[in-house]
Amino acid sequence: MAKQKRKFSCSECGTLNCSKLTATFPEGCLTTGLDPEELEEVVELYRSNPLVNKISCSAAEVEGTYYGKLTRVEEIAAFARLAGFKRIGIASCVGLANEARTFVRFLESQGFEPFSVLCKVGGVEKTEAGIPREHKIKQDTHESICNPILQARLLARQKTELNVVVGLCVGHDSLFIANSKAPVTYLVVKDRVLAHNPVGALYTGGSYYKKLFDENKR
Ligand code: SF4
Repeated sequence: MAKQKRKFSCSECGTLNCSKLTATFPEGCLTTGLDPEELEEVVELYRSNPLVNKISCSAAEVEGTYYGKLTRVEEIAAFARLAGFKRIGIASCVGLANEARTFVRFLESQGFEPFSVLCKVGGVEKTEAGIPREHKIKQDTHESICNPILQARLLARQKTELNVVVGLCVGHDSLFIANSKAPVTYLVVKDRVLAHNPVGALYTGGSYYKKLFDENKR
């Protein structure tokens, strides 16, 4: 079957000129195709929306000040301090409960008020939440659902100002982010195969992980 022609987007761009403006914009570029009024409206948000401005400026300050010097763990603390976020929520996976504990200790040592909620909170059996029995890992024992909506609610009750994802499963993290009242950042992106380093599959996509492109494996 003939492949559908890929729609032009930034992944097809050979210049990345929007980054430094030292090259040329390609044909079909998303920047040159913008409505100038929409661009200005967005820029105005960075300038004048208090939360957006605080987050944007703090993120830029972390990047500009500590570029290549701090680990992500430390960067989160630096960002939260600059943005004035003291109550830090942690949405953690049961598989990373120990790492979440260590992170909590670290945040406390930095003067923050961490509050952590595990994904299994509520202890609801998967089949009670509409998950087919055959999709359980072990079908004959109790398996609690991952409950990212409840995680988000319990963190909101604590009035957390920034929520940090520690290894939620793909999709559960989507529900958490969609339901979180506070802005969300990631500490750990779960990858059970690559020790939580998902980009490893892409780094080696031309060699050891060529199988990523095996069309028979969809
Ligand atoms: S916005 Fe334009 S210049 Fe920037 S990456 Fe996309 S296509 Fe390339």
